[in-house]
This record gives sequence, C-alpha cells and structure tokens, in this order.
Amino acid sequence: MFGLWRAWKRSRFEKRDLPAHWVGILEENVPFFEAFDVRDRERFLSRLKVFVWRLVWIEAGGMSIDDEVRVVIAAAAVRLVLHLDEDIYGRLSEVVVYPSHFHHPAEDSVVLGEAHAWGTVVLSWDAVVQGLKNPHDGHDTATHEFAHVLDRNSGDFNGTPELRARGHYRPWALVLSECYERLRAGKKGERRVLREYGATNEAEFFAVATEAFFERPEQMAESTPDLYAELRRFYGVDPQV
Ligand SMILES: [Zn+2]
Repeated sequence: MFGLWRAWKRSRFEKRDLPAHWVGILEENVPFFEAFDVRDRERFLSRLKVFVWRLVWIEAGGMSIDDEVRVVIAAAAVRLVLHLDEDIYGRLSEVVVYPSHFHHPAEDSVVLGEAHAWGTVVLSWDAVVQGLKNPHDGHDTATHEFAHVLDRNSGDFNGTPELRARGHYRPWALVLSECYERLRAGKKGERRVLREYGATNEAEFFAVATEAFFERPEQMAESTPDLYAELRRFYGVDPQV
C-alpha cells in the first residue's frame, strides 16, 4: 500500500518540468554532472526532481536553504542510486542542513534515535561544499552520509546494504572484511585509497569505501581491485568510464 502511494507521488514529481535554473546549478557546482551520457543524464535529472520535491528540507543553526542547497545535496544522493532501485531511499524523509559543523559527531551525522530514527540525514553545508571542491580526494561528506542511508535501509547498520542477488553476499562479505582488516592493520594498498576513518567499524568502512569508489576509482581499481569490483557490482556503475 505504501509502496503504491510512493510510486504515485513519484510519478507526479517526474512529470513536472525541471526548473530551468537547476541545470545551471549542477553545471556550476557538481563536477560529476558533466560526465553523464545522455541516458544517464536524463535518468539523473528525473530522480533529482523526485528527491528534491519528496523530502522535507529543514534549516538548522541559522542555515537558509535555497534551490542551490537542495539540488547540490540531492545530486550527491542521486549519484549513488542512479542504477539502483530508487525505493532504497524510501525510508528517508528529511534532510537537516546546518551552515557548518554541528554538535553531533562531525564525521557521522546520520541522526539516530529520537523521533526520526533512520529517516533523517543531517549535513553541514560547509562540508558538502568542501567535498565538491575536491572531487578526487576520496573525501565527500554528502556521499558518505547517503552511503550510510543505503546501508541502514537493509535493516542492519553493518556495512552491507541490500545486494542485488543472494549470491552476492558471500563474496561481498569476504572481500570487504578482508580489506577492512587490512586497513586496520595499516596495509599500504588500502591506505592509499581509503581514509583511515574507514577502520572505525564496518559501517564506516562501507561509507569511506563508497567515497573512494566515486572519487578515486582509478586508484581503487588498481590498489584494491576486489573491493572495486564488489562496489561496481552493487552500485551498477563504473566511475572509471
Ligand atoms: Zn560515517
């Protein structure tokens, strides 16, 4: 029932025209936007509309949210699910934006507990902008937080989102746990591409690996090819091309 309701709302948003100035916002602020081919670009824009219009955007700490803020944050979220079932964000209902850092642990700002449990993502706008300024350093706060949403959607928060097929879980677990242990042990290959923060726990490992997958795909494919292959299979994209 709720699935139908969601689908109906989504199709209404998809049919609305894209506001003309959004493309300018993307071209100016979102470096990965220009790399899409025609088909992906169309799919991306359609999902972007749904994401921006479906969610509740909440200003916090004196932040004022305009279309630029919404479109830029939505772009980071939609890039992750471009070739996934977009219902994967179905439980996400609101995005809270602060102008800069806020008093949740700065690295892990998905708000837990309280009324909104896993339906809320909290972001610092400064951190989002910083992430986009350096699109190849393997550090992107928005990407990181939305990767946590995908992970959490599986029901657990353990670094394994819902994979495409049952047969994918075993190789996923083997490859990710091995890379995670190697990062914890300070092995060179992993440290070359993954931020040390990924050694915190499995959930952080997946989020950090996602940042590197999208921002440093060539290095990851070279240094940790098995990890790259698992992420490529899950996300359904190859950011190298
Ligand atoms: Zn995190």
